[in-house]
Amino acid sequence: MLDLAYEAPKPKVIAGATHDWELVIGMEVHAQVASKAKLFSGASTEFGAEPNSNVSFVDAAMPGMLPVINEYCIEQAVRTGLGLKARINLWSAFDRKNYFYPDLPQGYQISQLYHPLVGEGEILVDMGPGVARRVRIERIHVEQDAGKSIHDMDPGLSFVDLNRTGVALMEIVSRPDIRGPEEAAAYIAKLRQILRYLGTCDGNMQNGNLRADVNVSVCRPGQYEKYQESQDFSHLGTRCEIKNMNSMRFIQQAIEHEARRQIAILEAGGEVVQETRLYDPDRGETRSMRSKEEAHDYRYFPDPDLLPLEIEQEWVDSIKASLPELPDEKRARFVQDYGLSEYDASVLTAELANADYFEAVATEAGDGKLAANWVINELFGRLKKEDHTIEQSPVSPSQLAAIVRLIKSDAISGKIAKDLFEIVYGEGGDPEQIVEERGMKQVTDTGAIEAAVDEIIAANPAQVEKAQANPKLVGWFVGQVMKATGGKANPRAVNEIVAAKLGL
Ligand code: ADP
Ligand code: MG
Repeated sequence: MLDLAYEAPKPKVIAGATHDWELVIGMEVHAQVASKAKLFSGASTEFGAEPNSNVSFVDAAMPGMLPVINEYCIEQAVRTGLGLKARINLWSAFDRKNYFYPDLPQGYQISQLYHPLVGEGEILVDMGPGVARRVRIERIHVEQDAGKSIHDMDPGLSFVDLNRTGVALMEIVSRPDIRGPEEAAAYIAKLRQILRYLGTCDGNMQNGNLRADVNVSVCRPGQYEKYQESQDFSHLGTRCEIKNMNSMRFIQQAIEHEARRQIAILEAGGEVVQETRLYDPDRGETRSMRSKEEAHDYRYFPDPDLLPLEIEQEWVDSIKASLPELPDEKRARFVQDYGLSEYDASVLTAELANADYFEAVATEAGDGKLAANWVINELFGRLKKEDHTIEQSPVSPSQLAAIVRLIKSDAISGKIAKDLFEIVYGEGGDPEQIVEERGMKQVTDTGAIEAAVDEIIAANPAQVEKAQANPKLVGWFVGQVMKATGGKANPRAVNEIVAAKLGL
């Protein structure tokens, strides 16, 4: 049923001074778990609340407070793993990652280093119709977010807001299977789309819901294939990690700049130093932030306040049974069931709300292709103009379906349909009733059309002669009839009648 035949895209090649280089990219994405409460406390996760108003004693690390795991956050992470076709580990455990930061009152972050909840999975990253890259997921672990330090509110003071402290994150780690800046952006887009379909992360990048650490290295052509064969990282170049990116555009720019920086070093005979860097979009460069720290720098150890996490296979199965249809499946079904092009299907499935809207229109109108046309070209175009989302659409699926039905039954012409759409968009109302009341019905009554044609022929003998000598000029008559009928005559009928009357 599901046809996932696809071709791999070509890796990005950058020409250096002496030879070509290829890019290798792996991403660590921090996705905030969609949950009303934090990972180990009942405090709210609401965005934009008064600073330090959503902080429980355990979030503030008051002495003697103990974490209590939020089952719903774990369920969300399991759901995410299943959506990424990943292995779910029934036995996982939490570790302490120790570091000092003013917005981390515990002095450590509870994370999962040794035994993550989710193991290997994959994401199919679409790069155009029939072209996709399979990016392997290495693991997903559950961890706490830190708070926020604010340094730009006062010249002499720094502030700390702990609202975000302890919010559940999923760290989704990919294998280094991404081969260029566009693919990196497409990877984030696809991951975000899947998470939003699953309802496990809102994916609001501006609010920091989804942030990526981007690992970049460069290698000579052919080296990546050797890595793929052996899974031996020594075939690849040394990577640098660009931290905390939350803009698709900056991710692409940062990768490009970082790759060129590394190439320049290598071609000058130097060595890339593994480190953590920050991207400065104003200057268009990455800057060293700190040398790369290793796991042992963090003195990881199993968190003594939390028992290992054991979950039941039946619970996992029940979550699996409740998974929604995911983007790849939905897109394939739209192509198959409604006869849509791959392109239209991917536009319509980009957001679940759009896909649901389209399906409601298609079902009610009984014509998927026409429905797709109207949803994509008219509705999306109009919503975009007003900067509105589908949820804010003043035209309901039933109203749009009614318009599509009127076109399909030849009751109105395509041109009149656009006017009708404008009326429904601006004023609301029942499309059928509007057509009836405002006399917008297409004239298919051949008698009426014939009368109009006769009149125009009688009034324009010179044009008749010209058209009879050159049948291409028949369009002039068709235009006149359309004008005379206020655009409501059925163009097909007009064409036939004009041709017949002119004896063509
Ligand atoms: P750390 O926490 O030390 O950054 P992780 O294992 O969590 O280590 O993440 C490493 C990330 O770097 C993964 O996404 C992985 O795919 C990527 N990566 C590893 N080696 C390379 C390489 N040579 N080039 C690009 N990315 C790499
Ligand atoms: Mg890292």
